[in-house]
Amino acid sequence: MNVNELARQTAMDFKNGSSREPRWIAAAPGRVNVIGEHTDYNDGFVLPMAIERYTVIAASPNNTDRITLRSTAGDGVVTVDLAQPLKPGPKGHWGNYPVGVIAGFVARGVKPPGFDAVFNSTVPFGGGLSSSAALEVATATLLEAATGQTLDPVDKALLCQKAEHEYAGMPCGIMDQFISVMGRESHLLLLDCRSRKPELVPMSDPAMSLLIINTNVKHELTGGEYAKRRAECGQAAMALGVVSLRDVSADMLERARGMMDGTVFRRARHVVSEIERTLHAAEGVRASNWPTVGQLMYASHASLRDDYEVSCPELDAVVDIAGAIGPGGGVIGCRMTGGGFGGCAVALVRTESVADISARLASGYEQRTKIIPSLFVSRPAAGAAVLKG
Ligand code: ADP
Ligand code: MG
Repeated sequence: MNVNELARQTAMDFKNGSSREPRWIAAAPGRVNVIGEHTDYNDGFVLPMAIERYTVIAASPNNTDRITLRSTAGDGVVTVDLAQPLKPGPKGHWGNYPVGVIAGFVARGVKPPGFDAVFNSTVPFGGGLSSSAALEVATATLLEAATGQTLDPVDKALLCQKAEHEYAGMPCGIMDQFISVMGRESHLLLLDCRSRKPELVPMSDPAMSLLIINTNVKHELTGGEYAKRRAECGQAAMALGVVSLRDVSADMLERARGMMDGTVFRRARHVVSEIERTLHAAEGVRASNWPTVGQLMYASHASLRDDYEVSCPELDAVVDIAGAIGPGGGVIGCRMTGGGFGGCAVALVRTESVADISARLASGYEQRTKIIPSLFVSRPAAGAAVLKG
């Protein structure tokens, strides 16, 4: 279902619930990170793209001081009383994401009118494709239409990130909201997580696409692995006397090898090399140098698997099978994407071979793991937009 079909469907859902047409419709995409993993909290670079999966919100004013929110995929009706101070709802409830965004607008002195709204989405939840950012950014985009106040794109992304921190209790980085706001058709986004400077990188060749393979596993880790990795990066930076690993070159790190624990060294080696790979990959995409981009993706995976130790057998299986299909079969590169321990892999593929590659990956993966994966293909998609209003 493309974004216009989803918008039509959502308008219908809205009409069924409130017997009138929506006045405003807005959409925001999910995303996949092509390369640059575990670099964001080290002030490094990431290279995501928006995917052809969207969250759409349809709404109309209700001439009250209240906002009501429903979702085709979430429980209950969330009511926001604009006459009262806003606060988060029950922990884990989906309403916290949009309510946090509404609170962000109110805090900026942009008070929205009362309205009724319905959300609908084709972004899978909890699969690492950032349905949460799509939900926030769709809300913010609708609020722009409803208030007539367009935010600066960076401010808008940061407002949505703040909603996720303060209302959903998730201390995420800036990538998801930036790409959902700023994605552009046929472009990746090279994002400097230190300066927050976004740079669009054209990927105009329609012969190349990204295939997203959801392993459909999520290993529950009890050891606080994410916090541990962050702490190890901090230890490496401290040993090197720098603010963050962004300030470290491969040579510098090699020379300092004896000054840190072996595990800490390997964590740092992943981060330092991944930042370099991300910059090279952006150059490769710009030059349509696909073999180079593909090699960088495989190298990224090996580094995440061996040095950063955040992969898992299922992700490794996908990457192995993709590698075995190889350029002859239309697969140029493949790696895990997202935090790791399950979730999705992403492959750079020839568009014309997508059907064949998908079938081979799905059957190979099922044979190895006894799990049925979900796959879909996307070209770099457009960021958030007002579709009506
Ligand atoms: P991800 O962002 O990787 O998909 P998260 O755990 O960050 O995973 O966010 C998923 C949560 O976002 C869901 O559990 C749900 O609460 C909320 N969510 C996202 N999109 C919607 C939607 N369209 N309707 C209701 N809730 C949604
Ligand atoms: Mg999320």
